[in-house]
Amino acid sequence: MYDFESFLSCETDDQKLENESVNQSIVENPVTFHCGQCNTVWADSRGVCGEATSVNSLICLEVTQDVTINGEREWSLDGRFGACVYNTLRCSGCVCRMGVVLHSTPQHLSALRNLFLLKKDKMYCYIFSSGQMVKASTLNFGVTPLGEGISELTQLIQEVESNLDNVSAVMDDTRTNDATSSVQ
Ligand SMILES: [Zn+2]
Repeated sequence: MYDFESFLSCETDDQKLENESVNQSIVENPVTFHCGQCNTVWADSRGVCGEATSVNSLICLEVTQDVTINGEREWSLDGRFGACVYNTLRCSGCVCRMGVVLHSTPQHLSALRNLFLLKKDKMYCYIFSSGQMVKASTLNFGVTPLGEGISELTQLIQEVESNLDNVSAVMDDTRTNDATSSVQ
């Protein structure tokens, strides 16, 4: 049985970081994801479909050939992946365990089945637009919750409606003036 806490055993070289203070709320630019220990590329932003904060992992549809899937299925009784059956993922560069693919899970993790879950803790990101290498933990890959999006949309619709009211009021005024002037 695999102890997930030992993901922390991937030691990182903090000296490599040029600027850790970068904190972008949404990553809109091309990014590659690297092993914090050996710099091997694990994935890029095209393959990322979100973030699972409950298990502190990046959710990917695809990973590079430098991520090795351990053929033997394992299981865990407790911890973040308690009552799950999974394959562990390894970095082909330094052989550290850096993620899992879940197969059988309790209900609350069912949305994460058959996806690559890469641990954010020790992952670094190279941001092409700025040429910076930053810790993945400083970036947010989550999707805006639907509720927030809807409330923003509702607000926008209200603004548009009030603008339309103003426009029709102006048009009414114009028509009245036209009618008055034609009578005169
Ligand atoms: Zn590595």
